[in-house]
Amino acid sequence: MCARDANSRFSGGEFQSPALERLVRCFGRLPGLGRKSATRVALHLIADPQTGADLVDAVREAADRVRHCSRCGAITEADPCAICSEPRRDATLLCVVASPIDILPFEKAGFYRGRYFVLGGLLSPLDGVRADDLPFARLATRVEQDEVTELILALDASVEGETTALYIQRLVERHGLRLTRLATGIPVGGALAYTDEATLQRAFEYRRQY
Ligand SMILES: [Zn+2]
Repeated sequence: MCARDANSRFSGGEFQSPALERLVRCFGRLPGLGRKSATRVALHLIADPQTGADLVDAVREAADRVRHCSRCGAITEADPCAICSEPRRDATLLCVVASPIDILPFEKAGFYRGRYFVLGGLLSPLDGVRADDLPFARLATRVEQDEVTELILALDASVEGETTALYIQRLVERHGLRLTRLATGIPVGGALAYTDEATLQRAFEYRRQY
C-alpha cells in the first residue's frame, strides 16, 4: 500500500519495526510531510495511543460520512447539501468555484444568497487537465434546469482561472444569461480560499460583465 518514498534516506536507515516503518511511509504520503515530519508524527502517536485511536476513528468516520453533494459538489454529509436544500437560497444565482474550499469564505462572509457549482479543478492543458476532466456538461444542465439568470465566476486570478472562465463563457453564451466575474481585489496569482472577507466582498460587489 504505502510505497517506500524517495525521501527515505533521512537519518540513514530504517527502524527495526516494519509496523513503524509502514506508519512513517503512510504519513510520508500526505501533502507537506516528508520523512522527517512523518517520523515525528508517527513517534508521537505511538507515545500517545489515545490520540492515535482518536485519529483512526476520525479518519474512518470521515471516510464513511463525507461525500460531495451530487448537485453542487460541496463537501457534505447529506446529499443534496444544506445549501442546495435551502429553499430561501436563490437558485437562479449560481456561483462557480474551482474547489469545495472556495465556498467557505463566501459562507463565512454571509452576503451571498445564491447557490454554488464546484468544478473540482481548473483547465490546465500543461498539467493535463482538459475540458473532459471537468463537469462542464453538468454545469450546462444545471444552468438550464435551474433557469440561472446570473452565473458568477469566482475563480482564482491565474492563467488557469482565465482559461476556465473563457471556456465557460463559450459554454453558456447561448443561454443569454448574465455572466460575471469577481472584480479585482483578489490578488493576482492568489488563492481564493485564503482571501479575507472584506476583500472578497468588495471583489464580489464590483464583479463585472464577462
Ligand atoms: Zn449542494
